[in-house]
Amino acid sequence: MQPGLHFVATPIGTARDITLRALDVLASADVLAAEDTRSLRRLLEIHGVPLGDRPLLSYHDHSSAKVRGKLLAYLEDGQSVAYASEAGTPLIADPGYHLSVEAAEAGHLVTSAPGPSAIITALTLAGLPTDAFFFAGFLPNAKGARRSGLEAVKDVPGTLVFYESPHRIGDMLSDASRVLGPDRKAVICRELTKKFEEVRRGTLGTLAEEISGTKLKGEIVVLVDRAALRETSDEDLEAALQSALTTMSVRDAADSVAKAYGAHKRSVYQMAIKLSGK
Ligand code: SAM
Repeated sequence: MQPGLHFVATPIGTARDITLRALDVLASADVLAAEDTRSLRRLLEIHGVPLGDRPLLSYHDHSSAKVRGKLLAYLEDGQSVAYASEAGTPLIADPGYHLSVEAAEAGHLVTSAPGPSAIITALTLAGLPTDAFFFAGFLPNAKGARRSGLEAVKDVPGTLVFYESPHRIGDMLSDASRVLGPDRKAVICRELTKKFEEVRRGTLGTLAEEISGTKLKGEIVVLVDRAALRETSDEDLEAALQSALTTMSVRDAADSVAKAYGAHKRSVYQMAIKLSGK
């Protein structure tokens, strides 16, 4: 196996969701490191991958500058290091970022055996547009900071994806309904790939009401549709036409404004004739 840092994605629920390549990497790396060494040991056992006498280190970005130094020293020594999250893809709301940056800066190979992540699994099931999405991670705990976090992503032109804990989901949905609007489509994906997998679809308003007062258990992803395009008023169209008519013929101005606003061509043309006084 090539010397270097090999990130390994692990299942987010069902143990058999690990990839064959992830198992190969875990079987042949010189050194193993994990966010949670107990979970990795269990996963190795389930899939019959012997740890043997290879080192297995516990590593988190924040608590382990010393361990990071050790891992970088193994890389310096020409060894292969496999790093796995407790669940899902490393670095996605999980440790690995500082390790990745420092290993790359030191000139080592940094590569990945990709696999499950709750973001992609939830997007696949939610039934919201996937052409563009924004992963906002976990919102802050405190109400004020959470509302500011929601305010900051209000106008993102894509599906919003949040990770959330079962204790805070009620507060999160009621704040999201308030800040983003109760009519936006929203989806709760819970316990993905596990026995009690559940997908609840609705709007922020209806879901906030459903969830208030009930207890949701397990792991949760919340997805929210992008804001609807603002309806164009006649005043908007007139202002755009006035400006276009200063440089264009009536027909061209009407064509260009109708296209820009997705408006009905004929009515924009009639408005342009009126404005031009012809
Ligand atoms: N690295 C992981 C990934 O790639 O998805 C995410 C780790 S983050 C610490 C844990 C959060 O991810 C959970 O609180 C939940 O919001 C989401 N999550 C992880 N597994 C999930 C699952 N099976 N179903 C729903 N959400 C899940």
